Amino acid sequence: MNWPGLAHPVRRIFCIGRNYAAHAREMGAEAPAEPVVFMKPPQSLVAPGPVQLPRGRGAVHHELELVVALDESGPAGMALGLDLTLREEQAALKRAGLPWERCKAFEQSAALGPFVAPPDDWQALQFEGRRHQAADTANMLFGVAQLLDWLGRHWTLRPGDLVYTGTPEGVGPVVPGDRFRVAGEGFETSEWEFV
Ligand code: ZN
Repeated sequence: MNWPGLAHPVRRIFCIGRNYAAHAREMGAEAPAEPVVFMKPPQSLVAPGPVQLPRGRGAVHHELELVVALDESGPAGMALGLDLTLREEQAALKRAGLPWERCKAFEQSAALGPFVAPPDDWQALQFEGRRHQAADTANMLFGVAQLLDWLGRHWTLRPGDLVYTGTPEGVGPVVPGDRFRVAGEGFETSEWEFV
């Protein structure tokens, strides 16, 4: 799948959980000792515009995240995205000790804006979404360089791999009719409309 601002088709989507202490706290979780990773298929991506929410499956939460794209030499771009999450299904899966695909990797669960050139300093990015979520990458538990190093020790990273780097605090539900705009200095502004 090709994506605006990327030279390579999207290959895999890594997602990092609990990468901001305040979000781990709001979920009643401990700050992890090493990155928490799950994946979404490229087919779950949805560009700015309408997003079809799952129906009858409980609350869908927005998680505003910095997304990093890789090429041969390392980070090739940055974008803003939403890691959409079926929160009640996730809570039930956590209680049962089961995998998260059902609550994280559903259709149109990976909202993603266009990529722009990566920054000089990954630790100095600010971005926000709607009025609920604001992020400063200085508050990441594992910074982008650390995440890529850690992922690279567990997977062979290749051009077209993406990393959703985790959400700050302030996650909450979206419902049909809601709009969610994301913006930040150096980023393309994007908006999704939930239907
Ligand atoms: Zn997330």
